[in-house]
Amino acid sequence: MFDLKGKVAIVTGGNGGIGLGMARGLARAGARIVIAARDTEKSEAAVRELEALGGAGPLAVRVDVTDEMSVEALAREAADQCGRIDILVNNAGINIRKPAHDLDLSEWRAVLDTNLTSAFLCARAVHPHLQRAGGGKIINIGSMLSIFGLPFAPAYGASKGGIVQLTKSLAASWAPDNIQVNAVLPGWIETDLTQQARRDVPGLHERVLARSPSGRWGNPDDFAGIAVFLAGAASDFVTGTAIPVDGGYSILG
Ligand code: NDP
Repeated sequence: MFDLKGKVAIVTGGNGGIGLGMARGLARAGARIVIAARDTEKSEAAVRELEALGGAGPLAVRVDVTDEMSVEALAREAADQCGRIDILVNNAGINIRKPAHDLDLSEWRAVLDTNLTSAFLCARAVHPHLQRAGGGKIINIGSMLSIFGLPFAPAYGASKGGIVQLTKSLAASWAPDNIQVNAVLPGWIETDLTQQARRDVPGLHERVLARSPSGRWGNPDDFAGIAVFLAGAASDFVTGTAIPVDGGYSILG
């Protein structure tokens, strides 16, 4: 149920943070990983790390997930080099922390394009390959802001709310193709993305600790298990859901 040998998984933003945590889990379960991100040095380092885990021939493909042509090229190259695509993790994401009255349209668009439109573009690009493989798995990364609101995250919150609804729509649309589509909603996780937030938002670190039943921030390796579950046969009757992986952060009122 958790064996991914022979499967090929594209992980956008897989060269660091949560994406790399998921890639490590998928590689340990036997999948061949395609790291899809912009920073080639970081991606090559991730590939070397996955190789050391004994993963099946990981590779890096440079992509800008906001660019339709670049995403189409990613799907073509992954399929050409690996022979198939079975799993897509839509993980690439950014945040611009500003209240709506200070946010430029270009900043709004950058966040929506990177976090939401990218998931549509990547899913659409891999869909024929998943069909050809007889089915597949798509894992979209949402956030606690798929559920809650914060004053300084209008675009980020809109993009992550959208991820949950996109997940449901794709799940309904592609169930006849045996493609399961689910979202993962991370809590507060120690990555490059949140390092800046910890610096910028006074008291954030303490508030996260105080509210989390787990009593700690998450780390990228907390996402290995959910990735393997949602990418493998164990989740074949699970589709259209949004699963918090947050140490219990979202259960408290
Ligand atoms: P990181 O900043 O560590 O990783 C973000 C990744 O996205 C990088 O690998 C980056 O690679 C990639 N990326 C960004 N823009 C693009 C682009 N245009 N094209 C291709 N790749 C891109 O952050 P996290 O690991 O924290 O975040 C991963 C996901 O998890 C995001 O969707 C984020 O919103 C979500 N999340 C994170 C939480 C946290 O607490 N950390 C909480 C909730 C959700 P490169 O720069 O090389 O392109």
